[in-house]
Amino acid sequence: MERNIVKFLGLNVDLFSFEEAVEYADNISGQIVTLNPEMVNNACKNSDFAKIINSAELVIPDGIGIETGLKIMGRSVRRIAGIEFAHRLIEECAKNQQSVALIGAKPEIVEKAKENLQKEFPALYITYCHDGYFDDDEKIINEVKIRQPRLILCALGSPKQEEFIFKAKKDFPESVFIGVGGSFDVWSGVVERAPEIYQKFGIEWLYRTVKEPKRFKRIFPALPLFVLRVLREKFVPRGV
Ligand code: UDP
Repeated sequence: MERNIVKFLGLNVDLFSFEEAVEYADNISGQIVTLNPEMVNNACKNSDFAKIINSAELVIPDGIGIETGLKIMGRSVRRIAGIEFAHRLIEECAKNQQSVALIGAKPEIVEKAKENLQKEFPALYITYCHDGYFDDDEKIINEVKIRQPRLILCALGSPKQEEFIFKAKKDFPESVFIGVGGSFDVWSGVVERAPEIYQKFGIEWLYRTVKEPKRFKRIFPALPLFVLRVLREKFVPRGV
């Protein structure tokens, strides 16, 4: 299967459906980015971060912001929730007897997420588990390297997780990495995912902001800024 990439504000995005993206991910190694508006804003300011996204092996449009932005640019693609996509990749590993590593979140959270995933998929082999509060990346990379898991989930928040994966991936020719943000918090049962109605309308971010008002500071400048960037790209093409 070939990638079907479009450029969105200078960044690669793959126009796969959910099932196509799963099939594609099953057959590659490297980095999967779950792109959201905050990451786009960050990439517009930070060219090193943009390079990381553009050198990823798969970039999925995570959320209604990217889906709508692409629509404004004349591209139709259905959003793929990163948490669901990562969960499906875990299920594939359990089915295919491939091992998984979990890196990120607070120690008790990652342990609980591991326990719950293990219960959900009894055949799953989690070969490595570490919290996300470490300073020595090399130490973690070396510990995972001896295990060579097929799937390495990194829940360190963005851009930390993408930077970590970018640094690590060259040592893992057979592995696929994915940055999963706050997914371990949800899988641990400590944080609740937004009810289905919010998911259906693409407003999970609104639910999370109401539940955790401190996120407002993050969302508020990010969303309008993202909309402005998309509109500028549409009406004032690059180089003008
Ligand atoms: N985190 C981490 N190490 C850090 C900073 C954050 O492991 O140095 C974890 C944090 O505990 C949380 C996740 O990264 O589990 C980020 O969650 P956030 O809600 O920010 O991610 P989002 O889903 O919004 O991208």
